[in-house]
This record gives sequence, structure tokens and C-alpha cells, in this order.
Amino acid sequence: MTTTPPPTSSFALTPEQRAWCARLRALGAERLAPMAAGGEAGRVDRPLLRELGELGLLARVVPGAAPWRRVSALDLCLLRESLAYSCPEAETALALQGLGAGPVADAGTDTQRARWLPDVAAGRAVPAFALSEPDAGSDAAALKLRAEPDGGSGSPDGWRLTGTKTWISNAPWADFYTVFARTGEAPGSRGVTAFLIPADRPGLTGEPLDMLAPHALGTLAFDGVPVTRADLLGEPGGGFRVAMRTLNLFRPSVGAFAVGMAQAALDASLTHADQRPAFGGVLRDLQSVAHQLAEMATRTEAARLLVYAAACAYDSGGGAGEGARGGDGSRGGDGARGGSDGAGGGDVVRRAAMAKLLATETAQYVVDAAVQIHGAAALQRGHLLERLYREVRAPRIYEGASEVQRSLIAKELYREPHS
Ligand SMILES: Cc1cc2nc3c(=O)[nH]c(=O)nc-3n(C[C@H](O)[C@H](O)[C@H](O)COP(=O)(O)OP(=O)(O)OC[C@H]3O[C@@H](n4cnc5c(N)ncnc54)[C@H](O)[C@@H]3O)c2cc1C
Repeated sequence: MTTTPPPTSSFALTPEQRAWCARLRALGAERLAPMAAGGEAGRVDRPLLRELGELGLLARVVPGAAPWRRVSALDLCLLRESLAYSCPEAETALALQGLGAGPVADAGTDTQRARWLPDVAAGRAVPAFALSEPDAGSDAAALKLRAEPDGGSGSPDGWRLTGTKTWISNAPWADFYTVFARTGEAPGSRGVTAFLIPADRPGLTGEPLDMLAPHALGTLAFDGVPVTRADLLGEPGGGFRVAMRTLNLFRPSVGAFAVGMAQAALDASLTHADQRPAFGGVLRDLQSVAHQLAEMATRTEAARLLVYAAACAYDSGGGAGEGARGGDGSRGGDGARGGSDGAGGGDVVRRAAMAKLLATETAQYVVDAAVQIHGAAALQRGHLLERLYREVRAPRIYEGASEVQRSLIAKELYREPHS
């Protein structure tokens, strides 16, 4: 019989977990990467998604895909780290299925869940998480997308949505959007409501954006898009909490994505430095190169441990509950993306912010150092490091920029006794 070790006493993985990660890496390299190579940059790769669905991997990250299963933050991290190592395209596709469907699993009705979650878990339907706006990125609670009562105010049966969302992953190709709009119950985060909006709703259009990050991203324009109470995700005015609960689950796993990329860059550098002739020996004979490799390995391992610790803290119960720490953006709490608004108790918020911060900054450092060790070859289009160099930049900005994470950590340090 296998037993699960106490989650936070040690961050060594069990033999089963290590074997699972090895299988995922191999799957990524042998089966998913060749498929992803046939995908079109900036478009959703639906065959790849269906493959991830058939492999049963999406069901592990789509919360509530099976009613009896909660998403384990540690599983999510191991999946993202392992796939990022060998097939970042599959990693991103998988993560976006979970992110886009998160609010539906969290706050959707049985009808909404039954309609969409099995299809998302099978890779047949593509969701997107639409929070950011041209004037509301880090300060997400400042969002302006208007939801005006349709046919009278008070307790409306419906609303009309007008405004713009931008930098939305999977847009404009998604099948449905989890959209955060201002219904105006109160200022700041308390006036935000979440909706599930199918992509074919009249008045909803979108345009792709050409970004450094290779996955699909776009803008969405809402021109009086009609929504009803049946499209609500949770209560009017409760949308910001819905968004933060999903982001709290995903934050450590952005760090895991970064760790997977850092490890890939490190391993490529170890091989290269061992083989590249230089000055009568090989590169690794040069002490400055050897020390650089040591530094890359040490920082990568430190980031990995922080990510696992944050995920374990979430899984031990600190992250899943509602309102364990009730900051509120409209009252000087935390309206910034990466906030602690309504989700995540104990030290989960601090740990998740530290993990995301350290891992994404570390991955940038490691990938850059790996490029230096490889020299010009790394900058050739299609080289592993050229791809990682493009991929590694965005995670320091999205789901809470590094500066936002630092502010959050500092605030948490003064909020509670720390150990
Ligand atoms: C590849 C990619 C994918 C994305 N996918 C999605 C998605 O699926 N859904 C979605 O809703 N959004 C998505 N976004 C948008 C992302 O969440 C925002 O880019 C992010 O919240 C930052 O907002 P901003 O870009 O407007 O930068 P701003 O908020 O304008 O911030 C710019 C910079 O100002 C500094 N700064 C901001 N706030 C603070 C602060 N409080 N303290 C100190 N410094 C600060 C930081 O250096 C920050 O990088 C994505 C972005 C990218 C790049």
C-alpha cells in the first residue's frame, strides 16, 4: 500500500511522483512535441488539446471535471513543470484549460458545469479567462467593462456588456469566456460580477494579437452583449473573489512552469558545456562557466522547493477555502491581481507569491545564462533556447507582475506573526 507523506514536512517527491514526472517528460518529448510542431503560432492547437484530453491530463487540471475530484495544486505543479521541460506548447494549452474553466468549476451552476466542464476536460471545448483590460492589468479591480441592466435597474433579469478586454489567452478562438464586468453594486472589487459567455453571443467580437509569447492571445470587444442570470458565475458583486480564487490555485503553478523551463535550459547547458571545444578543452573546464552552471542549478532547485512548498500549503487546506482572509480591493485591501481577496488563508498567499516571484525571476536568469553559454547558436530560430527565451519573459508579468508579488509578500509579513 502506498501512503502519502505529510505534505509540508519534506519536499522530496515520492518515488511514484518522480516516476509520474519522468513519464510526463517522456510523453511531452515523444508524443506531444512532434504534434505541437505542426501547430500554427498564435492559434489554439485543437488536435493537441484533444490529445491532452485523451491522455487524461486535462481532467487533472479542470476543477470539478469529475465532481468527486478537486484539483491538487501539487499535481498541477508537477504536470506543468514536467510538460514545460519537454513541450511548453502542451504545458500552456493544458494550463489555459484549467485557468479558463476555473471560475465555472468554482462558481458555476450545475447546468453550466455539465454543459462545459466535460468538454473542456476532453479537449473538445476551449475556455478563456477574460479579466484584463487596456486600463486594468495589475490593478484588475479598476476594470471598466460595463454590465448595464437590461430593461430596468433594481434586480435585473439581464445585462448588456459594453467595453473591451485585452491580452486574453486563447482569444479570439475560445468557445466560451469567463468574463469579469462591472455591475456596479459597489466601487472597486465589490462591484465586479463574473459571467460565462459563449463565443457566439451577439455583439461579441475579437482580434488576435501578435505577441512574443507563442500561444494565442487576443482582444475582445463587447458591443451590448446580452447576458442573463443564467450566465452568472456566482452572485452579482462576487466576481472578483471568483477570479482571485482561480488565480490563487494557479499562482504556484506559474512558478512550476518557470522551473520546468529553467531545468530544460540548465540541462541543455550542462550538455553543451561538456561537449563544446574551447581553448584546448571543453567549456566546462573554464571555472567561470562551471560556476555559472552551479549557480543556475542552485537557483533552479531553490525555486522548485519554494513552488512545491506553496503547492503543499494550498493542498493542506489553506488555499481552497473562501474568505479565509477577506481583503477587499475597494477598501485598501488588495485589488491588484495576485491579491488575497477572499481566498487563501494561513500562509498560502505569502508562499504562493514568493514561489511565483522567485521561480519566474530565476527562470529568466537561467535561460539568459544558458543563452550566454551556448553563444550564437542559441539565438538561431527554432533552437530550444531561442524558444525558451521568448517563452520565459511573460510569466514575470502575468498573473501578478513581480512587483505586485513583492508588495503582497511585504503586506503579508506585517499582517501575521511569521515563522
Ligand atoms: C502572455 C500573456 C498572457 C496573458 N493572459 C491573460 C489572460 O488569459 N487573461 C487575462 O485576463 N489577462 C492576461 N494577460 C494580461 C496580464 O494579466 C497583464 O499583462 C498583467 O496583469 C499586467 O498588466 P499590464 O500588462 O496592464 O501591466 P501594468 O498593470 O500596466 O503594469 C506594468 C508594470 O508596472 C509595474 N507595476 C504595476 N503594478 C505595480 C505595483 N502595484 N507595484 C509596483 N509596480 C507595479 C510592474 O513593473 C508592471 O510590470 C496576459 C498577459 C501576457 C503577457
